[in-house]
Amino acid sequence: MKVLKFGGTSVGSPSRVQHVANLITNGEKKIVVLSAVSGTTNSLVALCDAYQKKDKAESDKIILQFREKYSEFIKALFTSDKFAQKAISKVTKIINLLASFSTEAFSDKIERNILAQGELISTQLMQFYLESTGVNSALLPALEFMKTTEEEPEYEFIKENLQKELTNFPDCSLFITQGYICKNEFGEIDNLKRGGSDYTASIIGKAVSASEIQIWTDIDGMHNNDPRIVDNTFPVRELTFEEAAELAYFGAKILHPSSILPAQKANIPVKLLNTMEPEKEGTKISSEVKRERKIAAVAAKDGIVAIKIRSSRMLFAYGFLRRVFEVFEQFKTPIDVITTSEVAVSVTIDKTSHLEEILTELKAFGEVEFDQDHTIICVVGKFLQKDTKIAAKVISVLKDIPIRMISYGGSKNNITILIHKDYKIQALKALNEEIFLSDEK
Ligand code: ADP
Ligand code: ASP
Ligand code: MG
Repeated sequence: MKVLKFGGTSVGSPSRVQHVANLITNGEKKIVVLSAVSGTTNSLVALCDAYQKKDKAESDKIILQFREKYSEFIKALFTSDKFAQKAISKVTKIINLLASFSTEAFSDKIERNILAQGELISTQLMQFYLESTGVNSALLPALEFMKTTEEEPEYEFIKENLQKELTNFPDCSLFITQGYICKNEFGEIDNLKRGGSDYTASIIGKAVSASEIQIWTDIDGMHNNDPRIVDNTFPVRELTFEEAAELAYFGAKILHPSSILPAQKANIPVKLLNTMEPEKEGTKISSEVKRERKIAAVAAKDGIVAIKIRSSRMLFAYGFLRRVFEVFEQFKTPIDVITTSEVAVSVTIDKTSHLEEILTELKAFGEVEFDQDHTIICVVGKFLQKDTKIAAKVISVLKDIPIRMISYGGSKNNITILIHKDYKIQALKALNEEIFLSDEK
């Protein structure tokens, strides 16, 4: 069994849905995970925003746009009137549900219910389209098997319940399901955070012990640098799980930050492929690579806060770092990068919802400073201790940029550098020109 995930742009128009339908109907047994039609989740976020602000004019406008968009979409997608009618009736029900929340007191729970509707629409449209062309496929309701507890997937539950859903269709080899959405430990509708359909695909891949997970998107694989910012980037043909996970975590938008881990745990290769150019090689992520380049790629993560705690009590003391880290644990705030000296420690966080409380608690240990608006530049590859020049090269490329923190040696896979966000573009461009576009490997 393979698991294939198609992102929002891959199902972003009626002709793209038809194109994906062609790609997935080759007889191979597979589960196809779909995102919402591109733009839909953003509009659902905007709808929640309007409800929260009680801006009736805005919410009415968004609902009307939904009706118009999907009515056009369905008209263009189906040649059969029967299936067009079925699709209109189903989508109208969902949009009526979206409209019905205007009279209720807005809550988190309603928000999560609203956000789930995009994937429920796209998968239903795909299923009707496949049926209309005579393809035997089945729609699997993700809300029946995709479960998380404290944001972690419940693999036993997922495996068992997904298997139950699959056995309902013994003669079927093509299954369609929703990415992104799940139920949480309270049985409420929830989601895997923006971009979460990649994560769904990987979780399902692990649950069914898939032979391969394919992430189909609008670009030909993981590029060596952020193609939205830098010109002349190119696809990296092979990455290890560790490298891909670092890149995803540190900002390569092509993959959800958590999406590599389930595949890695189950040792299932992940391919990143281009829906618009399916013949292109893309990127293969697996446990073994035969790549020549030591530095594989660079990614950047914005919105970082650096916190420095300086204390003479750190000198010759043990237990100091533990107490500092406990503060972050108490506020469920992950630390990304750490550097230390004899009398000070600097850490970075990107979750700032408890920043004030964290700073207050840390003041008990000594002097506390913090810097907002920073960016982590993460240089990813396979760096062995015996490899000379790599760290020196990276630092020398960034010689004109003020560096706030550097972390190297934490793993074999990354050099992490913290700079002010205003230097991000300069840094990414310099790394591209002087490392990737020069002949040195
Ligand atoms: P989907 O809707 O299919 O999930 P995303 O927009 O989430 O697609 O991810 C694909 C996009 O990620 C690309 O169009 C590209 O702009 C962006 N991206 C950022 N960094 C990278 C990278 N290193 N390699 C490839 N794409 C990247
Ligand atoms: N539709 C969701 C989003 O836009 C999930 C996804 O596309 O992966 O974030
Ligand atoms: Mg995505």
